[in-house]
Amino acid sequence: MAETSTLNQRPASSLPLLEEMERTYKDLPMEAIVKQDILRQGIHFFPEAFQVKDPYKSKDYFIFSFDHIPLADLKDGADTKAPEEIKISGGHFGLLKTVISTRNNPNSPYKMKLKEGKPTLYLDETEIGTAEYPPIPSWYKHKTKSGKFPGEIAPVIEWGYLLYLTVFRNCQYFGKDEECAYCDINHNYRQQKGAGRPYTGVKDVEDILEVLSWVDAEDQIAKVYTITGGSVLTNLKKKSEVDFYLQYPQAIEARFPKRWMGKLVAQAFEKEDCQKFKDAGIQIYHPNYEVWDKTLFEKICPGKASWIGYENWIRRVVDSAEVFGPENVIPNFVGGVELSEPWGFKTVKEAITSTKQGLDFFMSKGIVPRFTAWCPEPYTTLGQQAGPPLVYFCELLRAWKETFESYGLPTPPGYGEPGPGKAVFSVSAFMDVIGYSGRN
Ligand code: SF4
Repeated sequence: MAETSTLNQRPASSLPLLEEMERTYKDLPMEAIVKQDILRQGIHFFPEAFQVKDPYKSKDYFIFSFDHIPLADLKDGADTKAPEEIKISGGHFGLLKTVISTRNNPNSPYKMKLKEGKPTLYLDETEIGTAEYPPIPSWYKHKTKSGKFPGEIAPVIEWGYLLYLTVFRNCQYFGKDEECAYCDINHNYRQQKGAGRPYTGVKDVEDILEVLSWVDAEDQIAKVYTITGGSVLTNLKKKSEVDFYLQYPQAIEARFPKRWMGKLVAQAFEKEDCQKFKDAGIQIYHPNYEVWDKTLFEKICPGKASWIGYENWIRRVVDSAEVFGPENVIPNFVGGVELSEPWGFKTVKEAITSTKQGLDFFMSKGIVPRFTAWCPEPYTTLGQQAGPPLVYFCELLRAWKETFESYGLPTPPGYGEPGPGKAVFSVSAFMDVIGYSGRN
């Protein structure tokens, strides 16, 4: 395992680096290794890469920016034309189809260009794969009675599989002393509004139901919806946090009972409150713990630490399994943020040792954490920093896979099919590694 400090610039991506990882991590599919490297670096879209024949779904900025530079600095059409995700296949490693979330970065070594009329991803001169862009769902053509676009009210991600309902596009943890240090929800809201885009802060239940009625009638691909948004500390629209978030699944399930699988990404609630969401029809609960190390949690999630506290948070995650069933509690952590400056670990080994303890703690109880790859966004407290090296993500995937397999756990529900060539979860490769039996 690499012992290198992350205080310097992250090691550049290169073909020799990918080939080294291919030799070292034979237990991980190349699809997962390449995916993590692209997520780590972002993608530079050449203007020609937007000149494709068929229309495609561009980024809806469904919650955070997930870009490496501010929206206002994105040039050559990347601010409005970058696809939500790419699906690459073939190329130097003969990749199976791999879905990857778009993180704009004009300085990325991964360049999307056009080759014989098809978008094609390059690393230096090497072709990494031919790319597809996500189709636009038919129901995106409608407009609500209140004049809103479906892609703003109920955008789809994960190649159409997940309806992502960020019902509150701000967070009441506000400013450096409260906001999670990697999170740009409030900043992204401001930059979207600043760019003059329609970007609803608090979504109307009726707007959501109207859009979902078109999804119900026209769409067979979306299987899941997620209700999420920023934390509510006092009240919002005269409702407590629980009551505010509860109104959405209650309305959706009353109108379209069990039409999709309902998920909730929210703070860690006490059991009684979890029960209310379960009764409303929510099946999957994501009380994200973000980073396992307690000292880092307190530094990186200062609002959560002071309002709820680390021990309480972890206890509530565990308790919520009594309500939802352990396999339906899937807390997220931000992969790589434990290596961030100035508070993070200084070596990959220390970071993985800590994060693996968290995986073991939860998985031993049947709770399967998942992770998203940390994207150092410019307007966050942590800012634009180098980010972890690729070897960290390979070690993390190995630790996740080993722990998951050692407890013989089932595939997390609500993510579609697992495995290389099938996974649609686009912000980390945890679903891509499930079931992979290794190579020689
Ligand atoms: S709780 Fe933290 S991660 Fe969640 S929206 Fe608020 S600041 Fe962002």
